[in-house]
Amino acid sequence: MQKLSVAQARQTESIGQQVTLQGWVRTRRDSKAGFSFLELNDGSSMANIQVIADGELENYETEIKHITAGCSVGVEGTIRESPGKGQATEVQAERVILYGTADAESYPLQKKRHSFEFLRTIAHLRPRTNTFGAVARVRNCVCNSIHQFFQENGFLYIHTPVITASDCEGAGEMFQVTTLDLNGPPKAEGKVDFAQDFFDRPSYLTVSGQLEAETFACALGKVYTFGPTFRAENSNTSRHLAEFWMVEPEMAFFELTDNMDLAEQFLKRIFKDVLARCPEDMEFFNLRIDKTTLETLQGIVDSEFVRLTYTEAVKLLEASGESFEFPVNWGVDLQAEHERYLTEKHFQKPVILYDYPRTIKPFYMRLNDDEKTVRAMDVLVPKVGEIIGGSQREERLDVLEMRMAEQDLVAEDYWWYLDLRRYGSVPHAGFGLGLERVVQFITGMANIRDVIPFPRTPGNAEF
Ligand code: ATP
Ligand code: MN
Repeated sequence: MQKLSVAQARQTESIGQQVTLQGWVRTRRDSKAGFSFLELNDGSSMANIQVIADGELENYETEIKHITAGCSVGVEGTIRESPGKGQATEVQAERVILYGTADAESYPLQKKRHSFEFLRTIAHLRPRTNTFGAVARVRNCVCNSIHQFFQENGFLYIHTPVITASDCEGAGEMFQVTTLDLNGPPKAEGKVDFAQDFFDRPSYLTVSGQLEAETFACALGKVYTFGPTFRAENSNTSRHLAEFWMVEPEMAFFELTDNMDLAEQFLKRIFKDVLARCPEDMEFFNLRIDKTTLETLQGIVDSEFVRLTYTEAVKLLEASGESFEFPVNWGVDLQAEHERYLTEKHFQKPVILYDYPRTIKPFYMRLNDDEKTVRAMDVLVPKVGEIIGGSQREERLDVLEMRMAEQDLVAEDYWWYLDLRRYGSVPHAGFGLGLERVVQFITGMANIRDVIPFPRTPGNAEF
């Protein structure tokens, strides 16, 4: 007998087939006429399939009539046209195999709606809910699009290390990796002697694969890395995780405008694919989570992003008449409230801000001729704020060394990065897109902890 997924069994083409389905029961309902309905879900789609289990079945009284939400079952039977509304097909069971029971008293996922806060405490079971099933499918779709987009456009997928000795962002928000005994580490001159550590030096979990990706871009042209990233920033916000996934394309012979064009095309492609490939899940998000998401995504696919310099943005914000919690003036880092004003109120669409003050951006961004700003770009979207951060990289050795000194970085630590500017240096650019921020934006989920399977945030590493 052929195994079908619930999604396949729901198609009218499957009518008449003898099949096996396997999954988890969402509900059981008994008819007075002596048979039962089981709503079966296997994660292949948001929708369940209705199984009709006849009273004649051999285990009807002993097992089927005791099936509760969460039980796992196998069903062998025939798919037929459903007389009920809201579904094209149903399964007439010839055999129901009960794999695992789920005690109704203790099974935490009952039929009522649970809060997302509660569901975070049962992260091992929340994939069985409609919302988290839909998030998982959309997240998968986004990852697939990301790879397809780059593969179709001549990019090489490369893997940058997870353990590193350099702090790319220079922000010092790194998790240290060590095998030293923290209760009595070896000392030299009163300090911990990292020469005796596993890597003979302090090492960390990476905050970005960019520096290493640059080495491959400066040999192979267009590359991207896509992997886990770690930041020990103690930010308990709805947009920050301590462990998140970042996509980082890096391109030789790209200047800032090329970089912006790529970022815009890339985001539009992701949104278009999700709309086309996950219509059922997106309907659900639009209905239950954020009533504007479908319209917003379609609007973005069909229109141009706004491009604005930081300086122009500051002028707009100063003239806005809004009373911001953090006052704006030229030179400050923009806060979420400022980004939201621009994307939600003023322009009502994605905005690419560029040419930021050199003082608030990392050392590797290319210095402009005005010597005040660097060729940075942030892509901002409504609600989520910054979704992409990128720049044209500084390819001039002397300027890069000067910028490093300015930020108290030791040039010797970055000798290999500087070599890229010593030998065959080229203009190049790239950006980083936070996967969870994109999924958050697409689904309308308010908290980033609900768009990653197992969120890591300050104080949370269970599961
Ligand atoms: P933010 O100002 O929001 O903290 P950032 O300026 O630190 O972001 P970048 O260093 O430019 O961000 O990282 C590139 C992208 O990675 C960001 O645009 C965002 O999408 C994502 N990102 C950064 N930090 C986090 C985090 N802690 N959790 C989830 N995604 C993140
Ligand atoms: Mn940050």
